[in-house]
Amino acid sequence: MPQKVISIRPQARIPGPKAPRYDGTALADTRGRPMRDLRISVTDRCNFRCTYCMPREVFDADYKFLPHEAILSFEEIARLAGIFVGLGVQKIRLTGGEPLLRRDLPRLVEMLAPLGADLTLTTNGSTLVKHAAALKEAGLNRITVSLDSLDEATFRAMNDADFPVAKVLDGIGAAANAGFTPVKINMVVKRGVNDHQIVDAARYWRDSGHILRFIEFMDVGSTNGWRMDDVIPSAEVVRRIGEAFPLEPAEANYAGEVAQRWRYRDGAGEIGVISSVTQAFCRDCNRMRLSTEGSLYTCLFAQQGHDLKALLRSGAADDAIRDAIAAVWRLRDDRYSEIRTADTAKLRKVEMSYIGG
Ligand code: SAM
Repeated sequence: MPQKVISIRPQARIPGPKAPRYDGTALADTRGRPMRDLRISVTDRCNFRCTYCMPREVFDADYKFLPHEAILSFEEIARLAGIFVGLGVQKIRLTGGEPLLRRDLPRLVEMLAPLGADLTLTTNGSTLVKHAAALKEAGLNRITVSLDSLDEATFRAMNDADFPVAKVLDGIGAAANAGFTPVKINMVVKRGVNDHQIVDAARYWRDSGHILRFIEFMDVGSTNGWRMDDVIPSAEVVRRIGEAFPLEPAEANYAGEVAQRWRYRDGAGEIGVISSVTQAFCRDCNRMRLSTEGSLYTCLFAQQGHDLKALLRSGAADDAIRDAIAAVWRLRDDRYSEIRTADTAKLRKVEMSYIGG
């Protein structure tokens, strides 16, 4: 049973005025990694209570979600996103919490689209039927939908909101009809919970034109009761599927791609595996995360963020904000997944719903 904890959101100091000004040259952190990918959490709320992410015991009726005035407005998000793009970000992912719970999200998409970055969204799909067409029209490029099982009982138990599979499938259908093809489908695999569904899911999505991706269960946050024993290594996922439908490795689409690609030998499409636990990809990590309340995190497993909202709301000019972000990136040395142990898993890390998945 996960421990009841109040989420911690400690702040690290933003490098102050003494930090070197951003000189316009390509940004690299202490390990030589460029900054390319920005994930923005637009809400810390979700209508699901996935047991591995927002366990109901913790995120219950007493849980204090962020009040409206604490979260970044669309104007603030768009301003920051523009600064990030100026610093080299090429891809922006809107996430959460459940991003489609944020009212009027297509308006934010419309504000971000002119920046020219690859604009993507991760959603649980529960309201996509309603929103897919408007998101497309607003300029969203791609959608990833999370769906952990096609088996009704397993899925309802995992989302812990009694949400049916069929509605998520309808959402994926709506996304496809709106022109978001291929849709990526994320399946977090937890031993003894949904691993019996791995081959069934592969069978279902083969030949659909969509791309199923298996994610190793991770020790994000400090409330999901993570244990290494619950992780099904991606190598096992690939082996199990390959026994049913032969696979061969496929080239990465670009440097730093999170998922490793495997294609079906019979031409029925591809799968991806995301192996943050068993094959850490910190070496190529080019991601920055902006939390719902405007804190900047340089790692999904971070314990501290950098408070950009205070800077924004103190009237700082774009140049000053840009210098601060550049300084944070240049000092970045995170490589959590390379040094993970049972002990680090117990550290008080920020929750994924807050920092953005
Ligand atoms: N609500 C949206 C959704 O369901 O996709 C976006 C936010 S969610 C935090 C983003 C992704 O993180 C989902 O695919 C979810 O399954 C994954 N995720 C959450 N907790 C995880 C964990 N402990 N290990 C691996 N993946 C996790």
